Amino acid sequence: MTGDREVKTIRTILATLATFAVVAIAPLAAHAQDKGSIAISMPTKSSARWIADGSNMVKYLQEKGYKTDLQYAEDDIPNQLAQIENMITKGAKVLVIAAIDGTTLTDVLQKAADKGVKVIAYDRLIKGSKNVDYYATFDNFQVGVLQASYIEQKLGLKSGKGPFNIELFGGSADDNNAFFFYNGAMSVLDPYIKSGKLVVRSKQVGMDKVATLRWDGAVAQARMDNLLSAYYSGAHVDAVLSPYDGLSIGIISSLKGVGYGTPKLPMPVITGQDAEVPSVKSIQKGEQTSTIFKDTRELAKVTVGMVDAVLGGKKPEINDTKTYNNGVKVVPSYLLKPVSVDASNWKQVLVGSGYYTEAQLK
Ligand code: BGC
Repeated sequence: MTGDREVKTIRTILATLATFAVVAIAPLAAHAQDKGSIAISMPTKSSARWIADGSNMVKYLQEKGYKTDLQYAEDDIPNQLAQIENMITKGAKVLVIAAIDGTTLTDVLQKAADKGVKVIAYDRLIKGSKNVDYYATFDNFQVGVLQASYIEQKLGLKSGKGPFNIELFGGSADDNNAFFFYNGAMSVLDPYIKSGKLVVRSKQVGMDKVATLRWDGAVAQARMDNLLSAYYSGAHVDAVLSPYDGLSIGIISSLKGVGYGTPKLPMPVITGQDAEVPSVKSIQKGEQTSTIFKDTRELAKVTVGMVDAVLGGKKPEINDTKTYNNGVKVVPSYLLKPVSVDASNWKQVLVGSGYYTEAQLK
């Protein structure tokens, strides 16, 4: 009998403790649950910038008490669609999407809207859907302006020097940004092409001729090989407009392959974008000439601010309500400032801001 009573007492004590434990843990669990899960759909891990974007987003969201579901689609459109469907099924409260092809998400975003899930386009505009609530990005036109202004300044075009030979590269035609970069650049270069101070020997001008599907460096390298053999025997390429570091690397390999990068055959001015480590190293070696730094930490902060506002029933901070028409509506946007980087300022901009350590860039 005594034994029975002891067992009962112990059970009572355990039950009471369990109740306390539940009561003590409950607020924390409820808090985490209340904040909910935010899904982040990224295009690819093949470029360092998207890896940084993903981990910054996770870091800042978790700091604010959100759960996160981060997926990379390896530049495969059906894969990205399946991942987003799955995120909706799993109950994401907000979808943050950097689209591979900005025109393919209409159906899946309708499913999101039907469930009340908010959508933020991240870096790349999502086109053809009314179900895009906000857009966080950089001033993409200005990226192109900075790239081309760099060429303008390096070649001394403003002071009347020339003519120089230039070849043009564009980004992926399914990425809205690619057109903004190209148009921004052409706003600077076109007058010189018209006046004959810049000569495109291949005559390949316009996104229909110069785009590079999926931003693939190997595709850019193959195109540069063709340009060099078809149009540059006995002529020197003085500048290459490249919209992205990954393409610039391919273009540089091609140039080196035919002997560029020597005193007799100096490298052309070659632009880029994203300040990826191999390209910053290439700039230090005097191969790539410049890149554009876009601080992905700032982009993640702006996006997390949007998530917080949307879920808190507040209006997110936006600074552009005109530029980004996705074909169905103008998506309210926040544009951050891109910064031009070359051999003279990489340390100050990239190390000074804590984006990289100096050791990473050696
Ligand atoms: C981004 C660029 C990037 C490119 C290739 C664009 O949408 O804005 O920063 O270089 O995609 O990944």
